[in-house]
Amino acid sequence: MQYISTRNKERQYSASQAIAQGLAPDGGLITPAYIPKLPRSALEDLKSMSYQQRAVYIMKLFLDEFSVKELTDFANAAYGPEKFDTPAVAPVHKLDRETHCLELWHGPTCAFKDMALQMLPHLLTGSLTKLEEDKTVCILVATSGDTGKGALEGFRDVSRTRILVFYPKDGVSQVQQLQMVTQEGGNVAVCAVKGNFDDAQSGVKQLFSDESLRLELAKQGYFFSSANSINWGRVLPQLVYYISAYCDLLRDGEVESGQPINVCVPTGNFGNILAAYYARDMGVPIQKLICASNQNNVLTDFLRTGVYNKGRTFYQTCSPSMDILISSNLERLLLSLTQSDQEVRDYMKLLNQQGSYQISARVHGKLQRLFAGYCCDDSQTKRVIGQIYSRFDYLIDPHTAVAFDALDQYRQETGDATTALVVSTASPFKFCDSVLEGIGAPAQGEGLDLLDALAGRTGLPVPAPLAGLRDKKVRFTQVVEKDSLVDAVRGLLE
Ligand SMILES: *Cc1c(COP(=O)(O)O)cnc(C)c1O
Repeated sequence: MQYISTRNKERQYSASQAIAQGLAPDGGLITPAYIPKLPRSALEDLKSMSYQQRAVYIMKLFLDEFSVKELTDFANAAYGPEKFDTPAVAPVHKLDRETHCLELWHGPTCAFKDMALQMLPHLLTGSLTKLEEDKTVCILVATSGDTGKGALEGFRDVSRTRILVFYPKDGVSQVQQLQMVTQEGGNVAVCAVKGNFDDAQSGVKQLFSDESLRLELAKQGYFFSSANSINWGRVLPQLVYYISAYCDLLRDGEVESGQPINVCVPTGNFGNILAAYYARDMGVPIQKLICASNQNNVLTDFLRTGVYNKGRTFYQTCSPSMDILISSNLERLLLSLTQSDQEVRDYMKLLNQQGSYQISARVHGKLQRLFAGYCCDDSQTKRVIGQIYSRFDYLIDPHTAVAFDALDQYRQETGDATTALVVSTASPFKFCDSVLEGIGAPAQGEGLDLLDALAGRTGLPVPAPLAGLRDKKVRFTQVVEKDSLVDAVRGLLE
């Protein structure tokens, strides 16, 4: 399969080039030239397979350079019992007949980023081998909280890789911060940035386009790559769990073959919901894609009006992994809907120059047939945590709560009772203070003490990777100004 840039269809890339490069030189996102259809019997065939086998089957359709043997080794290493606390890897939890929850937080960092970031290092080092690249890859990550830890854990001590993570100093939860600054591994570094997530992300994008830095590093035997969700190696493993979830629903008799479902996704950078869109394109009977946002509702407005406008107040919310004004992966959706790299290029230029763009009526019509967008604020988010807990005895984190609220709004507005799959993206234990408040037991104390408070209150066990934080040493304390990320890079590679 060939890959293209969202901003230039002429330039083609192989799968391993796509994964190794992360971003195209023209600033576009490297994307499959087309989305393959699942063979007719695929969903039935996959029903009886393990998650790892499903991953191999699906990824193979996009990665013809990799053998089944290679992909099987990757899947077993990425999703094995040392990494995930359930053999189902991404289990579907039933709330009622029409409402199911896809749990994506059973991995080593307790957030959905593990689904992709446990796989990416294998895909990346495999790609480098195929390209006969002998330089060391230096992974730069900007994180709103969960990506950073997921990437650190995925890449730690992977040979011929270095990883440097930037997080917004006051934009992540205490548990998230502790998870990162205590990271172990000989090839890792973590650095706080004075600013918000978009500052960190823009800073990292600048590093990528800094030509003199690139040359300087090449001399030292390094080159940059990205583990952010703009990398195709991040998006692809995410397609797997949508297909897998539908197979589980089929297997368990919750849906019949061909029966449509709606999918509701708590959304930030648009990577997760984009994967659902591609799964739909491949042939999973997904009807509506419900895009859930917190108070940073740029996507809600975009889906309703067709105008993307990043010029707005940035809010820090209790669902920080969705505190984003520029949803990078939207660019891939735009290419798919417009089928025009020229049009995508124009929109992105406008976004850069004026901070906003308006899609054509034709594209907006397509968008609205596929997607619906809803948002809610922090107080509603916490209310929903309490409601779901008392109604279903099911504990959810704030990001997942935003999705439940969006589903509720969608159902009320449309009366559409189609079976819904709500995507649960983090363990509630990562956000103890909001969760405790939501279930009516406001937090006493702070930091790791809250883990015990939540466990005590709910009778649920603290996930092992979080319980273990107590004994870890803080290793990383560096803070940089938002325009001096380059200092941290030089420091790491000295
Ligand atoms: C990253 C993240 C999101 C947002 O996912 P995108 O792919 O960026 O849209 C939502 N919830 C949690 C817990 C996350 O870590």
